[in-house]
Amino acid sequence: MKIARHIRSLEGYVPGEQPRSRRVIKLNTNENPYPPSPKCSKVLASFDLDRLRRYPDPNCSALAEAIAKANGTTADRVFVGNGSDEILSLCARAFVENDESIGSLDPSYSLYKTLAAIRDVKWVGLPSGRAAGTDIDIRRTPLDDRLALFLLTNPNAPTGEFREPASVAAFARRFKGVVLVDEAYADFACANCMSLATAPRNRNVIVMRTFSKSYSLAGLRVGYCIGPRDLIEALYKIKDSYNVDAVAQSVALAAFNDRVYHGKTVAKVVKTRRAFSAALEKLGWDVIPSEANFVFAKPPAPQKAKDIFARLKEKSIFVRYFPGPLTGDRLRITIGTDAEMAVFLTALKGI
Ligand code: PMP
Repeated sequence: MKIARHIRSLEGYVPGEQPRSRRVIKLNTNENPYPPSPKCSKVLASFDLDRLRRYPDPNCSALAEAIAKANGTTADRVFVGNGSDEILSLCARAFVENDESIGSLDPSYSLYKTLAAIRDVKWVGLPSGRAAGTDIDIRRTPLDDRLALFLLTNPNAPTGEFREPASVAAFARRFKGVVLVDEAYADFACANCMSLATAPRNRNVIVMRTFSKSYSLAGLRVGYCIGPRDLIEALYKIKDSYNVDAVAQSVALAAFNDRVYHGKTVAKVVKTRRAFSAALEKLGWDVIPSEANFVFAKPPAPQKAKDIFARLKEKSIFVRYFPGPLTGDRLRITIGTDAEMAVFLTALKGI
């Protein structure tokens, strides 16, 4: 039995822990603490089982049309995926030759590096932001000629830092390959880059969103992206025929159409993020200003992020710790309900 050389040496992406017990305070994978829209339960309760006998719509037409309409574009510029992770994986296959490379900010979503390794191409990280201790100007920084795909997270993860759309636009104009703006957390931010993707003259920008965070549907696995027609067509060519199941298509559509509920949920999370960031700063933590549903914060010396992570876990409070030179001195804490954040702060004071 033969395993390809580059897969043999691959470390594999390690997702955040999903504890089986529901009696934990789970602030480790940026899920939404509030339930999905009540419209989703209606869809599930009345879902016609006979629809499961047949294959689902391979193009997610109804959902793609709703997404297109809400963004002032057409469905042929929308691609729906099995979570946005699937879209990332498809982009790595569709837009990169074997001798080219994939880039991202550093630190950023660590899956990007793994995707390059799976593809057996080079990953290029641009150190950027407070955690890296340097902020490159993406409008000017020199770029490797072989960079074919740049995965630009905005707001960034795990830092929550936000980059102005004008600077993303300037970067995309001078970038020869495809720029995928990963907007998994953009609904919690002050602005976003969607207009770059929908602009008629756009040739290389794809903006990607997910139902996992602001729509509280991480378990459903639906994400989408909008971009130039030829790039979207390329993704359709290589995807699995039925990549998004019938239940997921219907439930995501119900959630997407409930704009009022979505807006209220997002507003609650943003309000809690502001109060929690201030409370954490009062305890002496260095909190990077966040435009996402999490904060990336450093405890005051001599406390160590790694130790606090372990002590919190003993108290059934899960946060995320990323070892490494750029991230190892901080914890990424997802914003939960006000009550959960109060328990977190009390636990912290007891450590
Ligand atoms: N992009 C970023 C930056 C993320 O943090 C995540 C969640 N881990 C994803 C994409 C993937 O989200 P999903 O596959 O649930 O849509």
